[in-house]
Amino acid sequence: MSLSASYDADVIVVGAGPGGSATAHYLAQTGHSVILLEKSTFPRDKICGDGLTPHAVSELIRMGVPMPAEDGWMRNKGLRVIGGGHEIHLPWPDTETFPNYGMAKARTSLDETLALFAQASGADLRTGVTAVGPILNERSGRIEGVTVREGRDRENITELRAPIVVESGGVSARIATAMGITPIENRPMGVAVRTYFRSPRHDDEWMESQLELWDGPRENSNLLPGYGWIFPLGNGLVNVGLGSVSSTAHATKLDYKDLFRTWMRNAPADWEFTEENQVGKLRSAALPMALNRQPLYHNGLLLVGDAGGMTSPFNGEGIGYALMAGRIAADVMSQALARTSGYGHVKALRSYPEAIKAEIGGYYSLGRVFVKLIENPQIMRVCTKYGLPRPQLMKLVHKLLSDGYERRDGDVTDRLLVALTKMVPAA
Ligand SMILES: Cc1cc2nc3c(=O)[nH]c(=O)nc-3n(C[C@H](O)[C@H](O)[C@H](O)COP(=O)(O)OP(=O)(O)OC[C@H]3O[C@@H](n4cnc5c(N)ncnc54)[C@H](O)[C@@H]3O)c2cc1C
Repeated sequence: MSLSASYDADVIVVGAGPGGSATAHYLAQTGHSVILLEKSTFPRDKICGDGLTPHAVSELIRMGVPMPAEDGWMRNKGLRVIGGGHEIHLPWPDTETFPNYGMAKARTSLDETLALFAQASGADLRTGVTAVGPILNERSGRIEGVTVREGRDRENITELRAPIVVESGGVSARIATAMGITPIENRPMGVAVRTYFRSPRHDDEWMESQLELWDGPRENSNLLPGYGWIFPLGNGLVNVGLGSVSSTAHATKLDYKDLFRTWMRNAPADWEFTEENQVGKLRSAALPMALNRQPLYHNGLLLVGDAGGMTSPFNGEGIGYALMAGRIAADVMSQALARTSGYGHVKALRSYPEAIKAEIGGYYSLGRVFVKLIENPQIMRVCTKYGLPRPQLMKLVHKLLSDGYERRDGDVTDRLLVALTKMVPAA
C-alpha cells in the first residue's frame, strides 16, 4: 500500500510500557518509521511485582536486550510456595523453549531500559507526550492518527497521523475506549498492592509466593483474603505485595492497604519489613486478565498488553505477554505495510486477534476456569493443603501457572497441558 505523504510515520504506538516498547523495537528493526508516545518521562514507576518468569525472560532474550547483573537484573531459580502448612521449592525447568531462570528488575529501570532499547533500534521515542484521542476518518471510522498534548498545557493539542495506531497505554486504554472498545464484563480482574522494603531477603534466589496470609502467627490465627508475594531485587530491596482476583470485571472490594499492613505487622522480625525500612508508598492497581478487552484489532487500531487485558489469570504476570504481543503485532503490521492494496493491508491486520489467540487463547480460557475455582476460599484451602505435598501434581501445576510447558515434544505433563488448552475454546 503506498502511504500518503500526509502521514508522520508508518505506525504510532501509544504508551512506552513493555508492550509499546517491544512493538516499536520490532517495527523499527524491520525498517518502518514508528513514533512511540509516552505521557510520562523516564524513569517512571509502574505498580508491579517486578517479577519476570522464564517466559518473560525468553521474550527479552529474543528481543536481544542485554541483562547483566550489574544493571540490576536479578536472577532467580524458581518459586518457593508457602501454604497449607507446607513450604515447597519449584525450580524453573530447563526446557526447549524457556531458560531455567527467572528475573526481577524494578519497573523504574526495566521500562526505561526497554524504551531506550526501542529508540536505539530506530523508534522515534517522544516522552511527556499524551495521546488524547483518536483521529477518525469521518466516512470509514478508521483511525488515522491521534491528537496529542505535550506536557501539561491543555491548550497545546496537535495531531500525529499514521495508517496504523497501536494502543499499548495499559489498563486505562484511552484510545481504545474512545473507539468504543470497552472491557468485557465476564473476564477476570485482579487488584494488588505493593511496596518495597530494605531487607536481608533482597538476595534470596527464590521468588516467594504465599498462598495464605495470616493476621497473626502462621497456622495459628485468622486467614486474610488474598495471596502475597516477596520478590527479591538483589539491590538491597525486595518487592512485597498482595492481591486477589475476581472472575468478573467487578474486582473484589477489599481494603487491600489495610490487609497489607496487617500482614506486615505479623511478618517475621528477621525479614525487617518495618515502616523505617519501607521505600516508597504502598500503591495499588488493577490487573486486566484473560483478554478482557476485545476486539484486539478494530479499524486500524491494534491492542497490545494490558490494553487488551493480556495479564495471565493464572498468576497476574503481564510483562512477558505484553512483550510477546508487541512482537506478534509488529509482525502483522510489517505484513500489512508491505501490501500493495488497501484490501490486502486490512486483511493482514485482521489476522492479529487470531495470532494472539493461537498463542494464549486456550491457555487463558483454562485460566478463567482456574479463577472461578480459587475464588472460593474453601476450594483453595483444600487444594493448598492436599496438593502442595504431591511432587508430580505440583510439577504440573507449576508448569501450568507459569506458562512453562513445552508446546511440542514435551513430557507427559507438557502433553497433558497442551491437550487441555486445545480442548477449550480460545478466550
Ligand atoms: C500490583 C501489580 C503487580 C504486578 N506484578 C507483576 C509481575 O510481577 N510480573 C509481571 O509480569 N506482571 C505483573 N503485573 C502486570 C504488569 O504490570 C502489566 O501486565 C504490564 O505492565 C503491562 O505492560 P503494558 O506495556 O501493556 O502496559 P503498562 O506497563 O501499563 O504501560 C503503559 C504505558 O503507557 C503510558 N500511557 C498510558 N496512556 C497513555 C497515553 N494516552 N498517551 C501516552 N502514553 C500513555 C503509561 O504511562 C505507561 O508507561 C503486575 C500488575 C500489578 C498491578
